[in-house]
Amino acid sequence: MSEILTSDQVVMCHGERFRIYLDRETIAERVREIGRTISEEYAGKQPILIGVLNGSFMFIADLMRAITIDCEIDFLKLSSYGAEKVSSGNVEELKKIDAKLKDRHVIIVEDIVDTGLSMKYMMDRLDAYEPASLRTATLLHKYEATREEVQLDYVGFRIENLFVIGYGLDYGQIARNLPHIYILDESA
Ligand code: 5GP
Repeated sequence: MSEILTSDQVVMCHGERFRIYLDRETIAERVREIGRTISEEYAGKQPILIGVLNGSFMFIADLMRAITIDCEIDFLKLSSYGAEKVSSGNVEELKKIDAKLKDRHVIIVEDIVDTGLSMKYMMDRLDAYEPASLRTATLLHKYEATREEVQLDYVGFRIENLFVIGYGLDYGQIARNLPHIYILDESA
């Protein structure tokens, strides 16, 4: 039985109320902009996008379609929050990258940067492959929560320090299929 009850404006998920924060058109427009920028900045190159599973799958799919130059894709999976809303501070690798990254132009694609721990981990991890260049893209940045020094090259939206769901982002594995992004409604 589904635990998501939704109108467009408000969603109940695992008994908690979330309000709409970024609608699908706003997200799509920003993703197209980032795609255009990457296409310009990497003209004549063939970058490889490394998506961080599971949360980034929707963003990376849209981003890739917004890129007009040749580009490749691969995925890495890190341990998630599980059913928690607060980062545990531990990062564990659950799926490794198959592609060879040495001398490649690599762009790490994340759904959200919170503490920055996952992005920091991936930067260090992928840097060890000696790519020709290494940049990062994240759809969302909870900048007030970020404790690590992370280099963020392409940021979709800087957002409040509250839990968000939808457009690939889950709460206890559900809510990823919501087309808009919703934020925890603390006033509820
Ligand atoms: P960090 O390592 O930066 O603390 O956390 C990064 C990962 O935590 C993200 O890739 C995402 O999976 C998860 N995360 C952080 N904040 C949120 C949030 O507000 N909502 C959801 N659904 N996941 C989040």
